[in-house]
Amino acid sequence: MLPTPGLPSFDYCKPASPDEVTKLLLKHDGDARLFMGGTDVFVRMRDGFIAPKFLIDLKRLPGMTAIKFGKRAGLTVGAGADMNSIARHPAVIENYPLLAEAIDAVASYQLRTRATMGGNLCNASPAADTAPAALVLGANLVFHGRRGERVVPAEKFFLGPGKTARKPGEFLLRIEIPPPPQAAVGTYLKLGRNAHGDLAIVGVAVLGYPDKTAQSGYTFRIALASVAPTPIRVPKAEAILSASPITPEVIARAATAAMETAKPISDVRSSAEYRKAMVKVLTRRAVSEVWSVMHDA
Ligand SMILES: Cc1cc2nc3c(=O)[nH]c(=O)nc-3n(C[C@H](O)[C@H](O)[C@H](O)COP(=O)(O)OP(=O)(O)OC[C@H]3O[C@@H](n4cnc5c(N)ncnc54)[C@H](O)[C@@H]3O)c2cc1C
Repeated sequence: MLPTPGLPSFDYCKPASPDEVTKLLLKHDGDARLFMGGTDVFVRMRDGFIAPKFLIDLKRLPGMTAIKFGKRAGLTVGAGADMNSIARHPAVIENYPLLAEAIDAVASYQLRTRATMGGNLCNASPAADTAPAALVLGANLVFHGRRGERVVPAEKFFLGPGKTARKPGEFLLRIEIPPPPQAAVGTYLKLGRNAHGDLAIVGVAVLGYPDKTAQSGYTFRIALASVAPTPIRVPKAEAILSASPITPEVIARAATAAMETAKPISDVRSSAEYRKAMVKVLTRRAVSEVWSVMHDA
């Protein structure tokens, strides 16, 4: 039976400054919940998983929806910027097409007018589609807390399903993504139960670029969604692609290493065995696609 529609009652808070948010969070501790797009929060409230007494709306804080790009500084995305604004931003399309591709893999256009990348990361679902892109692009998450700003690399942010390195009183202000490496090529491949609107059974992000320090002449960064308690990088697969000239056999070995690193569970969307098999297939496909674009350039 579907849960009864409707939300438990709550107090709506619309703080005017970052310090006010931190004060509210510290004052109400476990009783307060942050929200931006609300596409995770309200669904979880409706379904009875959470019942916060205070909902803190962050969207109207100064700078929260800003998207900026500089050749040296890279991309800065306000935590409250909606996904469509990010994916349609000219600087993102030109410099971070992988990010735009990952965002476009989330649900539907309608949902992405509300959903934010910040919320997608802070929700810390292993299946979050923007997380593998954040990992391979070397994103940093900037939080505001009682001691001012704190930077947490995306690599260190995810601790488990729904668990992050966010500290009490902190909230995400913005996401900073460094300029992409010269001549980088990326892709995000997602397998769901249907073509659109479903959470990932497996997601694979690959970013490749020429690198004179690598024996193969190329570095590949690979990250996976939905196959471990958190989104993960797969260093063994990356090392294989750095060590030997890139051939179909080397790509296949890297894909096998990615599969061996994955520690998926079985759930409503897929068995663990199928997920593992698909990590191998999608990693091979994604690396091959990236390699063929780099090779032909
Ligand atoms: C129908 C449907 C389909 C979906 N399909 C997909 C999909 O295909 N792929 C996918 O990845 N996701 C999917 N989602 C999940 C969801 O849309 C995304 O996770 C979304 O990006 C969350 O962003 P939001 O702004 O709505 O977050 P919110 O719901 O506002 O918040 C999400 C979480 O982050 C916390 N939070 C919010 N703001 C902050 C902040 N500034 N600092 C710290 N913590 C904060 C909240 O307390 C909450 O725990 C789907 C959801 C629905 C309802």
